[in-house]
Amino acid sequence: MENYRRELADLDRAGMLRSLRTLEGAQGPRVLLDGREVLLLCSNNYLGLAGHPRLARAAADAALEFGAGSGASRLVSGSLALHAELEARIAAFKGTEAALVFNSGYAANTGILQGLAGPDDLIFSDALNHASIIDGCRLSRARTLVYPHGDVDALEGLMRRAQPARRGRWFIVTDGVFSMDGDLAPLSELAALKERYDALLMVDDAHGTGALGATGRGSGEALGCLARIDLHMGTLGKALGGFGAFLAASRPIIDILVNRSRPFIFSTSLPPAVLAAALAAFDLVDSEEGRSRRERLEHNREVFAAPLRAAGLDLCGSTTQILPILTSAPQPTMAAARALLERGIFLQGIRPPTVPEGRCRLRATVMSDHDPQELAAAAETLLEVLRAQP
Ligand SMILES: *Cc1c(COP(=O)(O)O)cnc(C)c1O
Repeated sequence: MENYRRELADLDRAGMLRSLRTLEGAQGPRVLLDGREVLLLCSNNYLGLAGHPRLARAAADAALEFGAGSGASRLVSGSLALHAELEARIAAFKGTEAALVFNSGYAANTGILQGLAGPDDLIFSDALNHASIIDGCRLSRARTLVYPHGDVDALEGLMRRAQPARRGRWFIVTDGVFSMDGDLAPLSELAALKERYDALLMVDDAHGTGALGATGRGSGEALGCLARIDLHMGTLGKALGGFGAFLAASRPIIDILVNRSRPFIFSTSLPPAVLAAALAAFDLVDSEEGRSRRERLEHNREVFAAPLRAAGLDLCGSTTQILPILTSAPQPTMAAARALLERGIFLQGIRPPTVPEGRCRLRATVMSDHDPQELAAAAETLLEVLRAQP
């Protein structure tokens, strides 16, 4: 125990200690944090669906009708009708032959890459990809070449040099929206490369699904190349307001994963309430209300970003609802986050290993349910806090 205590004390001294806070009530634009009401600027509940009565109602009805648990993994005790219904819905949503639901985005990324790639294969992975993709690459035991963030020319150079000795399958894997930078991957250019080099393009659209594109199909729709993506990974716990994740892809890809993907095979499947909430979320995303929530999200993003941009802050290339403000070192970043909390604004300071050394940041996420005036005031407070720093 003593060595763990020392390790924790070391983390604390370096400004790197992480700890948990408790929120009361539902996820909304304002929440109770340790008994105090604050503006929530760090939730991925982009469309406000996590607290939406229609999702809650669908979850409650399904629990009352079908029970609290699914009982086992699907290969052991079978799929529920709700699994099949949700997967058909997801495949139609992304325009693919089939889809498979996973228990979380973390389980999906590790399970997709482990299930599809092996030691003879080669994965090209963006340097800023999510940790779950990095872990999936490791679990697959495929050779992994990391290309500099968003750098299509560097990627092409890697592919050209690897081509003569090519053996197995090739994959290009990228976040659609980068979770700590809020920028979009160059998906059209990546699609052109995967077509030229006969690779599969996998896009993790955890932050794009539901929120981006005219109809919420995600970053592929926003960039006009949805149909050129081979493997559409998405999550149900962010803009869709619930929990879980999926892959939408061709039928053979899905069937291989049912046979090979360890997080899918060796884990109890999602329960009825979660599946029913996801179905209700897709209904909302496809409705007029969904469209107006996406419009409000985009508007709110601009309201919050404009004053920060005008003040000359480095927003890490963000074009989405994820708005990082680059601060560089850990201690001042955490001090700024504490000062903001004292003034009623809850957001996170982000440090390594989540971001590279020297790239600490305050990370704000806006939601469709935020009041634009409150967001404008929060941006002003943020500027004051940063100006007051030594
Ligand atoms: C959140 C996130 C995941 C993990 O999804 P969970 O459902 O929360 O496990 C995967 N990839 C990216 C890019 C994410 O932001």
